[in-house]
Amino acid sequence: MMTDINHHIPDTLLLSYASGALAQPFALVVATHVSMCDECRARLGAHQSAGGAVLEHTDPIEVSGASKDRLLAQLDDAVEAEPIYERSDIYPGPVMQLLGGQPPKWKSLGMGARQSILEESREGSVRLLYIPPGQAVPDHSHNGLELTLVLQGAFSDETGRFGPGDVEVADTDLEHTPTAEEGLPCICLAATDAALRFNSWMPRLLQPLFRI
Ligand code: ZN
Ligand code: ZN
Repeated sequence: MMTDINHHIPDTLLLSYASGALAQPFALVVATHVSMCDECRARLGAHQSAGGAVLEHTDPIEVSGASKDRLLAQLDDAVEAEPIYERSDIYPGPVMQLLGGQPPKWKSLGMGARQSILEESREGSVRLLYIPPGQAVPDHSHNGLELTLVLQGAFSDETGRFGPGDVEVADTDLEHTPTAEEGLPCICLAATDAALRFNSWMPRLLQPLFRI
C-alpha cells in the first residue's frame, strides 16, 4: 500500500461516511482513498467499531489475466489524437467497479484535458479527470464541496502539492488553479455536489457542455 500519502480524508467526512450519511459521489472518493491508505482504513475501522455502523465491502476487484489483456488491447485500439499514458493498474477497486472493468471512455475538454463521467445524480457527480503534464485547470471557486483524489501523476495549487493517493478537500472558501506537474499526465477522481464557478468567460461558456 502507499506510504507517502500526505493529504488524508478529514475526520468529519470519515465519520459521515462511516454512518452512511455521506452523499454517494463523495462516498466513492472516500472508499477509493481508504482502499489506498492504511492510515485512513485504520481510522475508519475505529469509527465503525465505535458507531457499530455496517458498511459496504470495498474489496478491490481482481482483474483476471484475460480481462487485463482485453483492457490493454482496447487501450491500443483507442482512437486518440495523442496517446494517453495511463498505467493499466492505476484504478483501485471502487473505480474499476464503476468502470465495469473497462478502460475509461475519455471525452475531450480541450487543450488535451479529458474527462470521463462515472456517475451523475441529484447528489452530485463523480468523474475521472486527465490533465496533461504542466497544464493548469482554469482558475475556479466552488458552489459546494469538491473532493479530488490523485490516481496518477501530481498537481499543485495554492494550498500545496498532491501526489498519488492524496485527496484535496475544496469548499466555498477556496479559489484555486490546480496545475499538473511535469512528467506523467495527472489522472484524478473528482466528486462535486454543485457546479464550479470559473473566473473567466471561456470555461463558463463551455460549462454546460462539459457538465462541470
Ligand atoms: Zn488517508
Ligand atoms: Zn476545484
